Amino acid sequence: MDIGQKMMSTIKTEIYDYLIVEKSFSENKLLYFLEKLLQKELNAQLVTFKLKDEENFNNERLFKSEKEKLILSLREDETVIGTVHIYFYEKMKFTHSFLHELSAELFKLLTKINSSDFSTRSEKRYEQLYSVTSLFHSSMEVETVLNEIFKTLREIYEDFSYYLLLTSDYENLQHLPVKNLEMDTTNETAWQAYVSGEVQTVDSISERRSLVYIPLKGKQGVYGVLQIISLDSMIFPKEELKFLVLLANTAGTAFENAQLYQQSRQLISDLKLINETSHQLNTNLRLNEVTTYMRENIINSFQAKEVGFCTFQRANEEIEILEGSTDFFKHSLSSSFKHYIRKYTLRTMEPLFVGDLRTFDEFDDIQFCSCMLIPMDLTNGKIGACVVVHPLPYFFTFDQFKLLQSLIHHSTLAFSNSILREELEKYVITDYLTKLYSRKYLDDKIKLSMKHDSFGTFILLDIDDFKLVNDQYGHQIGDEILIQVGSVIKDNLRDTDIGARWGGEELAIYLPKIDLSLGLQIADRIKKRVSEHTSPSVTVSCGVSFWQKEKNDSAKELFLRADTALYKAKGQGKNKVSAG
Ligand code: GH3
Ligand code: MG
Ligand code: MG
Repeated sequence: MDIGQKMMSTIKTEIYDYLIVEKSFSENKLLYFLEKLLQKELNAQLVTFKLKDEENFNNERLFKSEKEKLILSLREDETVIGTVHIYFYEKMKFTHSFLHELSAELFKLLTKINSSDFSTRSEKRYEQLYSVTSLFHSSMEVETVLNEIFKTLREIYEDFSYYLLLTSDYENLQHLPVKNLEMDTTNETAWQAYVSGEVQTVDSISERRSLVYIPLKGKQGVYGVLQIISLDSMIFPKEELKFLVLLANTAGTAFENAQLYQQSRQLISDLKLINETSHQLNTNLRLNEVTTYMRENIINSFQAKEVGFCTFQRANEEIEILEGSTDFFKHSLSSSFKHYIRKYTLRTMEPLFVGDLRTFDEFDDIQFCSCMLIPMDLTNGKIGACVVVHPLPYFFTFDQFKLLQSLIHHSTLAFSNSILREELEKYVITDYLTKLYSRKYLDDKIKLSMKHDSFGTFILLDIDDFKLVNDQYGHQIGDEILIQVGSVIKDNLRDTDIGARWGGEELAIYLPKIDLSLGLQIADRIKKRVSEHTSPSVTVSCGVSFWQKEKNDSAKELFLRADTALYKAKGQGKNKVSAG
């Protein structure tokens, strides 16, 4: 027996043993076994099968030999099913009959395996694909679909390694072979597959492995890459690619659907919030109610720590923190931050989104890192801002920022309306010149007090010889004096007392739950202060009247008695207080 015959006999025996011992057949496994066997027996560096090898297909020749490489076609008569590429350490010579026999033997073996295994296998592939896609239709969850895909991969290529390379983090996928697809040069081919959306393969003979990158494509984009690392020294079977692309696209569509589903759910809940807010704010709330409602809404929807609403006039340095803001904004906001809010808002009128306030150097004391600020263009040159903060850095997402913008946008009109309404109310009850209350307001309050309280005092004041003042200094100075007397009255009253303009140069004060003797003292004090705090100095005469529950009194009687008392004070020489 020559060397060739001996080699052939060993190869056949080994194949026979393999077929006897091996329980389950697959083409991949058989090819792997044959590659290793030929490598050992022919003393080759590397052996690779290329089934359905287009390049050498139908080539009349049995083999091609160039330097250390031999390409042997796998043929029987006219039928060629592929080639086997053998790389030697040095140039080798085999007899034609040996190569002929080897080719025929491999041909027989592979066609046999193919006819039994291949058809059932491709059937199986489609069964597997069907199971993945039907699962995909019954479940929206990425995790479930991926689990099935990996299960299928494990069944088909039990000896291969495979990874999912994803660009963003997904929860619940830690138990799967998921890696980050990073935008750097560590894996250019993977990145290439991701960017181009095309399958990339690398057959590395030097590293003795084959890598395949299949993009996970959906309809709107690529969501990651499936990486398959083939067995040691084995070239990846290209005919499997079609199936794998289908599998990867199923995963891609699953990612896409999950993302769209998540987005639409978020969108629905955002719209709901805006809708409900607009609806609530349309019901003519007071400013305090608007701010309180918005504060609660923002805390619930954004998990914000503190929420503040500020308003200021363009021309005025002062900044007002609205009542409905959280306590921090009302009592503990640093003046540098307050100043920043005003300055920033006036300068840009643009929303502000800050992940970490510590990167700003204008604040002496930072209690919060995350900050969203939305300016509000209110009425009458008034500007406002809604400020939402959290102690943790990068706490709010950009989507939340956009939602807050839209929420504030929809509520600005409600803010404006309630501010206007309250200003109007104040305007109606305030005398334009003295800024004391109007007579109508005083009337209403006295009637209310006569209903609920037990007693009270009323003072009517009249500026002495005011006609002379007007004549001597002019009407404008007369007005100034009226304003000064109004200020003296305001400065000398409690919050519950009411100072009003009765008409012309007559003013009035109502002191609920104050008895007559205290009322007289107060009138006396005011009379004294008027002469001290007016310039040019004027004096007033006061008529004081008192009511108590036991005597069935009326507001009209009360006014009348004060008027009589005032007349008495004038008669006594003016700059006097008289009781009636
Ligand atoms: P008497 O001490 O008796 O009260 O003398 P009098 O001059 O104050 O009284 P009289 O009622 O004769 O005149 C009131 C004057 O007050 C007449 C009017 O021009 C002036 N007056 C009333 N309302 C205003 C106002 O809003 N501004 C100014 N500047 N003067 C007013
Ligand atoms: Mg008068
Ligand atoms: Mg007068």
